[in-house]
Amino acid sequence: MHYTNLFHQFFLRISPDTGWVLQLVHCSRGLVLDELETALKQSHITDPDTCLFQLQLLGLVLRSQDGWKPTWHGIGVSNWRVHLLFAKGDLVSEPRDSENGHHLGPDCDIYRPTLFSPGYCWCCRPRHAHKSEFLKAAEELLRAPFSKAKTRLAPRSHSKKTPDPKP
Ligand SMILES: [Zn+2]
Repeated sequence: MHYTNLFHQFFLRISPDTGWVLQLVHCSRGLVLDELETALKQSHITDPDTCLFQLQLLGLVLRSQDGWKPTWHGIGVSNWRVHLLFAKGDLVSEPRDSENGHHLGPDCDIYRPTLFSPGYCWCCRPRHAHKSEFLKAAEELLRAPFSKAKTRLAPRSHSKKTPDPKP
């Protein structure tokens, strides 16, 4: 896959363990430092301190009095990482330059679904808030009666093997 977004460039530079640490920092917002460090120690990650140091050098996390926090880019990389994990190798939609999947992005007409937040676009708006989806829904409604009639009139083939019903 050839992805061009900035988060992918970061994703390629960090190890899988560092990616997990970033996700943990991202998901644990609100946890105090002690709690986060305990969670890191209990994880399978062998050297979380080195991972945090690398993330800090890349500008993906910040350490404050309260603990570790992801930066705007860190949130984007964390979201992109989860997006790719859920995609399981399928081609997925990419964020635009000013989007990280968490903060509201600029106006957007083309729905680009996120796998880390189903039903939402990289711009952080729900699917129905996109003109492209409104038009698609309208087209589907217009086509629906004709496609149903076509299916009913089409001769049925019994030679095709039908898939087993799901358990
Ligand atoms: Zn959008």
